[in-house]
Amino acid sequence: MFNFDFHNPTQILFGKGRIADLAKVVPANARVLILSGGGSIKHNGVLDEVHAALAGRSFQEFSGIEPNPSYENLMQAVELVRREKLDFLLAVGGGSVIDGAKFIAAAVNFEGDPWAILEKRGANITSALPFGAILTLPATGSEMNNGSVVTRKSLKAKMAFSSRHCFPQFSILDPTKTFTLPTRQIGNGVVDAYAHVMEQYMTYPADAPIQDRFAEGILLTLIEEGPKALATPDDYAVRANIMWCATLALNGLIGAGVPQDWATHMVGHELTALYNLDHAQTLAIVLPSMLRIRKEGKRAKLLQYAARVWNLTTGDEDARIDAAIEKTQAFFEQMGVKTRLGDYGVTADNIETVLGQLESHKMTMLGERRDVTLAVSRQVLELSL
Ligand SMILES: [Zn+2]
Repeated sequence: MFNFDFHNPTQILFGKGRIADLAKVVPANARVLILSGGGSIKHNGVLDEVHAALAGRSFQEFSGIEPNPSYENLMQAVELVRREKLDFLLAVGGGSVIDGAKFIAAAVNFEGDPWAILEKRGANITSALPFGAILTLPATGSEMNNGSVVTRKSLKAKMAFSSRHCFPQFSILDPTKTFTLPTRQIGNGVVDAYAHVMEQYMTYPADAPIQDRFAEGILLTLIEEGPKALATPDDYAVRANIMWCATLALNGLIGAGVPQDWATHMVGHELTALYNLDHAQTLAIVLPSMLRIRKEGKRAKLLQYAARVWNLTTGDEDARIDAAIEKTQAFFEQMGVKTRLGDYGVTADNIETVLGQLESHKMTMLGERRDVTLAVSRQVLELSL
């Protein structure tokens, strides 16, 4: 196992009705900015519950944070926070709203152009406003980590940053708030959480059996519960288990002390920035091809994955690996997420453009062994057509 630091200060308030506890975790004298997305929280009762919980407190609102939150839009919120001297952010929504809150929190007191935060991947952040989250969409894990992804539309650049200053102080997870989500968002969320586990697990053995078994436990739970979430949307236990899976998939626990990949996410980010695919759609496309092309480097873990997650224990090694990747891809399709570039209108003619963006973002040595060059990414994309 590698040396590691593990530090996760985010308090989780999990369960039905927990928004009522908001006043216990937001400081009493805070000047709050409530951040939200496209308006679903106005219709499903979440915003009403937030208002009730914050009765008598000082708060303002900024809505319209889009999926794949844009630098251009988030800077409007930064200006509002500065102008009104607000001092606490409350993100109410999915990963995009929480990621947006992290950027706003870091940008408010940043000296110079806050785009530099993205260019330096967050290494230049020295402070951030405190913030909390109310999660309405299980997927990204942003509710319990310090990472964020922001898109600058004018540059078609989707960039990630992280900072120890950017953990939420708390996140409230009420599974009943996911009952009314569209099936597309549930499917996307399960695929995103699955891919997060795979990015940290599907590398090479590192004498870390507990991390492996945590990871396999999350994968098996997503495989068991994911289809039920589509079939019976108001099953509390199913939604609760998926919500907690998505949080545990990216809160640092399974990735501590082990090599990590993330090549699938980096290629996927370029597809979203260029062609506007949903984040999870890009992962469903890229991950199976990434595993096929990099089968030799990942052979030992692929065999472990085949045995422990898909119960493939007999027969030829290569056949077991191929079958495990097939089953992974079929699971994504079962969750309603298509797995080929062609399903989204992206063709061979577009591959050069994707590779050009990867190069301009210095994504030329990806993966746990830094051996995913542009030539490898090209093979992956060509296999995904
Ligand atoms: Zn993701």
